[in-house]
Amino acid sequence: MKDIKTLDQTYVASTYGRFPVVITGGKGCIAVDDQGNEYIDMGSGIGVNLFGYSDPIWKEAVIAQLDAVQHTSNLYYTGPCAQLAELLCERTGLKKVFFCNSGAEANECAIKAARRYAQLNKGDDFYTIITLNNSFHGRTLTTLAATGQEKFHKLFQPLTPGFVSVPANDCEALSDAVKNNKTAAIMLECIQGEGGVNPLDQAFIDTAVQLAKEYDLLIIDDEVQTGNGRTGTLYAYMQYGFLPDIVTTAKGLGGGLPIGATMLGEKVKEIFKPGDNGSTFGGNPAVCAGAISNLKRIDDALLAEVKRKSDLIFSTLNGKTNVKSVAGMGLMIGIEPEQGTAGDIAKTCLENGVLVLTAGGNKVRLLPPLNISDAELNRALDVIANAFANGKE
Ligand SMILES: *Cc1c(COP(=O)(O)O)cnc(C)c1O
Repeated sequence: MKDIKTLDQTYVASTYGRFPVVITGGKGCIAVDDQGNEYIDMGSGIGVNLFGYSDPIWKEAVIAQLDAVQHTSNLYYTGPCAQLAELLCERTGLKKVFFCNSGAEANECAIKAARRYAQLNKGDDFYTIITLNNSFHGRTLTTLAATGQEKFHKLFQPLTPGFVSVPANDCEALSDAVKNNKTAAIMLECIQGEGGVNPLDQAFIDTAVQLAKEYDLLIIDDEVQTGNGRTGTLYAYMQYGFLPDIVTTAKGLGGGLPIGATMLGEKVKEIFKPGDNGSTFGGNPAVCAGAISNLKRIDDALLAEVKRKSDLIFSTLNGKTNVKSVAGMGLMIGIEPEQGTAGDIAKTCLENGVLVLTAGGNKVRLLPPLNISDAELNRALDVIANAFANGKE
């Protein structure tokens, strides 16, 4: 058999810079490579493996549904899709859900809904969506346009028109952008993930909510990364005391299988008619069965644990050698070194048996499984603290 790395480098499109590790197995928070090395996975597949690898409860829900029916298309009703939508609406106060397969696709649907709403209520030219610098909303041409990072824009011109980005937490710039454009919506992440794990200020959210009211704008809240218990509440907006008009989510919801969801609030709940949007795989019954099982486990007790472990991470890492700052909410944490690069620190962590992510602004990013044990967490934090110390010249 050919070497996996060589095969991959020969035949898989070179869109990723991979670490030199072939993951062949995993259990809970532990990933195993083809050499038998074990790693504590503090990234959970970029916030996807909500309860770690091969979680027995999630697996049982998926397998039971696979035994019943794995797919039928959206020409027919299936139980898990309807039940998952009910659960999401009951727990958020949003009214209807569109299912798809990824974060980018969920955001595409949100953008379509906002454009359609503005078209019907304000006029054809009110299609501009204000987004934030350093945001990340996906890789399709439209979600790239929504992503306020120049480096993503250059390669694939022309992008979808109708997006203007302003600095995060700059209330005046947001207000000016709304006034100077024919605006349909404001799109934000309560905590910018890829951009550097930067939580938005309460005052900035309050300004967005006020402007939305004044100018009849929609607020699109991208919770692809922050959602599903990650930040210590079911969705991060719940910590800011507002209800967005549209909430998108993906990553952790499926626990490892692809799903995206666009939750539509009161203003847009009837915006789509049959044929206006769709997805062949969207609402897949096996994926939805797993997501239902995941959501039911995100209860007050689990969320309290997320907050407790978050405090543990902050108190352990704050003030450690070469740690400049620790930011984030719940189990979504960004750590900035005083010296050295986050990439080098991630490499040192890997060599010492801990998988971490990086993010913009030279941050090491942690998104561990929500059920990580204290013992695993403490072991990982030890390695991470040492890697930061080693990063100092
Ligand atoms: C990951 C991410 C996306 C894109 O999700 P995909 O599933 O990769 O398309 C969009 N928004 C945010 C905030 C993300 O973190």
